[in-house]
Amino acid sequence: MKKRELKVDELHLYDLYVPIVESVDMEVKYDEGKKMVKEGLEVLGDEYLKILDEAFSNKWIDVYSNKGKYSGAYSWGAFDTKPYILLNYNERLDDVLTLSHELGHSIHSYFSRKTQPYVYSNYTIFCAEVASTTNEVLMYFYLMDKLKGEAKRYIISEFMELIRTTYFRQVLFAEFELITHTMAEKGEPLNGERLSEIWRNLYNKYYGRECVIDDRNKHRMGKNTSFL
Ligand SMILES: [Zn+2]
Repeated sequence: MKKRELKVDELHLYDLYVPIVESVDMEVKYDEGKKMVKEGLEVLGDEYLKILDEAFSNKWIDVYSNKGKYSGAYSWGAFDTKPYILLNYNERLDDVLTLSHELGHSIHSYFSRKTQPYVYSNYTIFCAEVASTTNEVLMYFYLMDKLKGEAKRYIISEFMELIRTTYFRQVLFAEFELITHTMAEKGEPLNGERLSEIWRNLYNKYYGRECVIDDRNKHRMGKNTSFL
């Protein structure tokens, strides 16, 4: 579909990063954003919604950008603190999705810290992203129903990107780790050349049928995620 929309004869991996729908210029004030998150996550039930209200009213979230404040968004806190959220809410539609994502982490932490003793209260990053991504997926379904025209097209294209980058691509990353760890356990040497070969083979396996894999794609690119 991307190949058709971009009108290219060959789809290279870098083409996947070109958006096919322009970002919508839609202002969403924080109060409206909170309302959207509550409506979108309603299906998770009364107990979840009550905790959502607590997050909003009990100062879990540092909402706006500020002088010297760290960029991006993340959920943090300790075993006996609130599960705080650092946010840089910029009154755009994307910020509403980020808010729902980080709330997924914080409410996961809330339940985990409430239910488990300290030693078992932590969780792995793989597990963590299930809670946050579930919230985002629910928000996408909600927004696809609610929005019309260009905004709806934008949400659908973003949702497709979420499926590719958060599900499909992460499976590729996981397979890379499985192969390399298995080799390490067998005492097989892992050098740059071998790692690049594994990486290129995986790109061929996952994207090769539809995309042109260029020689440069054998090099693994930086960080996997921009939001945690
Ligand atoms: Zn996350």
